[in-house]
Amino acid sequence: MKKDLKRKRSIALVPEYVFESYLYVRPEFLKSLGIRALLIDIDNTLAPYEQDLPDENIINWFSEMKKAGISCALISNNDHTRVELFNSLLSLPAYAKSGKPGKKTLLRAMRDMGVDETVTAGLGDQLLTDTLAVHKLGMISIIVPPINDKRTLFFRFKRRIERPFMIKYYKRKAKANKK
Ligand SMILES: [Mg+2]
Repeated sequence: MKKDLKRKRSIALVPEYVFESYLYVRPEFLKSLGIRALLIDIDNTLAPYEQDLPDENIINWFSEMKKAGISCALISNNDHTRVELFNSLLSLPAYAKSGKPGKKTLLRAMRDMGVDETVTAGLGDQLLTDTLAVHKLGMISIIVPPINDKRTLFFRFKRRIERPFMIKYYKRKAKANKK
């Protein structure tokens, strides 16, 4: 099983699934993969940097996850002020300054939630932090395009690095769909 996971996710920066928005990541879909916990990035995955609080869509999405028995945690590289304020309307397990692509905080979150990497997936917008971190643990990576891609030179540079991996993802998906 472990070996199989490693082989399947050997391309560290290619996510298993890409959705247009977190809103399309449904509990039924996660359950069909055997997933019952989700580690979720905040910035540009759920909301742009400038948005301090979760909107109605976000709140409803989390309540649907909860109803379906999917445990959720927020895993952010942003600071405590940002994470605590955003989480004030959600009351989820939340981790600031998580150090992704490091795996330490992910492991801590799963331990706190009482789950392990075999039933947990990661949801984020960055291949170089979100995907890489969950792949270190052999977990499934779900990626959404960044909500408000900051058009800074740094971000544009990162996108350029990511592009070939995204192309690989779509190629792989097309192949799988043909089967
Ligand atoms: Mg992000």
